[in-house]
Amino acid sequence: MQTYHNTVSGKQTEAADHQEIFNPATGDSLGLAPLNSQHDVNVAVEAARMAQGAWARVSDQERREIVANVAQVLEENSEYLAGLVTQEQGKPLSGPGSRFEMQACVGWTKVPSSLELLPETVYEDDTRKDVLYRYPLGVVAAIAPWNWPLMIAIWQIIPAIRMGNTVVLKPSEYTPIATLEMVRLINQVLPPGVLNTVSGDGRIGAVLTSHPDINKIMFTGSESTGRRIIEASSQNLAPITLELGGNDAAIIMPGTEAAAISEGLFWGAFLNAGQTCACIKRLYVHENDYDAVVTALSDVASQVPIGDGMVESNLIGPLQNAMQYNKVKELVADARANGCDVMEFGDVPSTGYFLPLTLVGNARDGQRLVDEEQFGPALPIIRYSSLDDATASANRLSDALGASVWANSLEQAETIASKLEAGTVWVNQHGAIHPMVPFGGNKASGYGVEFGMEGLKGVTQSRVISIKK
Ligand code: NAD
Repeated sequence: MQTYHNTVSGKQTEAADHQEIFNPATGDSLGLAPLNSQHDVNVAVEAARMAQGAWARVSDQERREIVANVAQVLEENSEYLAGLVTQEQGKPLSGPGSRFEMQACVGWTKVPSSLELLPETVYEDDTRKDVLYRYPLGVVAAIAPWNWPLMIAIWQIIPAIRMGNTVVLKPSEYTPIATLEMVRLINQVLPPGVLNTVSGDGRIGAVLTSHPDINKIMFTGSESTGRRIIEASSQNLAPITLELGGNDAAIIMPGTEAAAISEGLFWGAFLNAGQTCACIKRLYVHENDYDAVVTALSDVASQVPIGDGMVESNLIGPLQNAMQYNKVKELVADARANGCDVMEFGDVPSTGYFLPLTLVGNARDGQRLVDEEQFGPALPIIRYSSLDDATASANRLSDALGASVWANSLEQAETIASKLEAGTVWVNQHGAIHPMVPFGGNKASGYGVEFGMEGLKGVTQSRVISIKK
């Protein structure tokens, strides 16, 4: 059985304990991943701390070139890493799956390598000049989830490295292998100690995020873990970028042509079998359009092949783990017991954590499937009679990561979009993130943003030099 390793100071390390990782589609063993101790975390943080000064002194131009080299390594190893992601996480190679995840990794590496944060004269008059400079923070702890393991790790580590920080990354205990391999490969073009890993569950995450030598925490995951990380950061006062859960509402404006938007709606909700932070998780449809929308979505859902993602024709894979599989089943059962119309699509394999693509009609606010983040392939569809009601429904939860408005008229859509409380409100698309466009949650979906210039600023500390003329 293959054993995978952490990388610390540019070297592959040995661990005393390991866990076996299984393919969620087949149940096959994929190999052993390390389970680290507190001592291992200390060693990795020390390696990052020792490397940070020299890395910060590398010229900005040279760091840009090194990050561009990282993009090339990712490109060259895309097929290998995509295969690991599919076997470990479940999303198919094809469609918006693991090859798509690798393209995103490359894109989200190239863009920061092309950006520069120049000193900014924030004030000047006859008497004074004030210039804001941006410096690295130091050692960044990056804690990643299991749904887009490589892409989200890249979102965390690349801006940090680009700005002269060093990183200790902990992948999710559900999906460590692809990440450990990606970090091993990237290390071929990075100075030792710039990017290190530790592996294990939340206990190791807690040791890392509370470590006194951590200067910044990048966290993507659930709200409950986010709250624990805020508490942990009282140990080191590290600023945090918190990307937490979502329960994104989509509102279809009255009279919108259903067939024209059904494909966009479908993938907006079922991308990665719904295991995406900014997926449509509640769909609000005007009562007059309800039947047409359900028919159009059913037409798309009935044509999407489900199965082992290593088979090129499959476009939807399994849920990643038993916990998530059971949670989605439970929420759908609750909806069924409460009178919802449960419509299931797809030939579901008998092994693995597969669930059918599920539309849940006649759903209502207050039901568990509507109010809780399902993170799976079950979309509740809720009728509304007035746009004011639909807007109030969309805003009634504390989750506020994304939202979308779907309409024939862009002008009308923008009016509703401006009333929705979310970090991003998309019009006629959902989850359409871009490496230049800041992304982050409002309310209980977190704080701080990633991507673009704002994302780079988030991994720096500002210092002002104020000169009397
Ligand atoms: P999770 O919170 O269970 O785990 C995320 C990571 O935190 C894992 O690496 C885990 O080991 C670690 N962790 C757990 N306890 C910890 C602790 N006390 N201290 C430090 N680290 C700890 O989340 P998950 O189930 O892996 O991910 C799914 C959630 O993530 C969903 O809610 C989803 O919406 C959210 N998510 C948000 C975004 C975003 O950009 N906002 C993106 C993807 C996923």
